[in-house]
Amino acid sequence: MATLQQLLQACDGLLQPERFRDYGPNGLQVEGRPEVRRLVSGVTASRALIDAAVAEGADALLVHHGLFWRGQDGRLTGWLGERVRRLMAAGVNLFAYHLPLDAHAELGNNAQLGRRLGLVADARFGEQQLGFIGTAAAARTPETLADQLRSALGRAVTLVPGDGRPLRRVAWCTGGAQGYFEPAIAAGADVFITGEISEPQAHLARECGVGFIACGHHASERYGAEAVAAHVAAQLGLSHRHIDIDNPA
Ligand SMILES: [Zn+2]
Repeated sequence: MATLQQLLQACDGLLQPERFRDYGPNGLQVEGRPEVRRLVSGVTASRALIDAAVAEGADALLVHHGLFWRGQDGRLTGWLGERVRRLMAAGVNLFAYHLPLDAHAELGNNAQLGRRLGLVADARFGEQQLGFIGTAAAARTPETLADQLRSALGRAVTLVPGDGRPLRRVAWCTGGAQGYFEPAIAAGADVFITGEISEPQAHLARECGVGFIACGHHASERYGAEAVAAHVAAQLGLSHRHIDIDNPA
């Protein structure tokens, strides 16, 4: 058992949200009951995940995508009001960590995706140093890397192959980080992996010769919240379960 404050301190101490300029508040977003025994983690605080966490008897839910983002008008109506109502009615605390959860060197989304591909970052790049870059461990091509992602994540990926140059440096940044493609190229990447692709990146890949692989926003961010929640649950003696709500995007 832990108090809400102990759980918040453990998460904040691990992820250090004060180091980031983020698009929404990190930490406790919705306050529920003051004591926590069961922790559930997931990627996005969707209605489906909230309902699953309530059914699981969760006292706290830890996610990567919380409820509140810059630019929202602040009204708790419609779908957003419904999500908050379900959390509050069940007394479930909602913790959300966005960029700090991408960035953590061992437990974050980038580190955990890299682990599943046998990639270890030896440098960072891009805005707030969120991008990871490292040396390709074996003789790989963008095609073999794409195959590896398909089997690791169990889903289709989009590959724009580049110019066939030898693959020495692999850069990656989970989620909707297609805007990190140019910084990745500038950092010396021979291929870049992220969750999503937009129209311009296909042309950039062809014109700059650097491969681009989009493996799904949700799929690329499936591992960080689970790793962080497992870590803090072990530290505080909480039970933990990760619930994956499938998302094709
Ligand atoms: Zn994301």
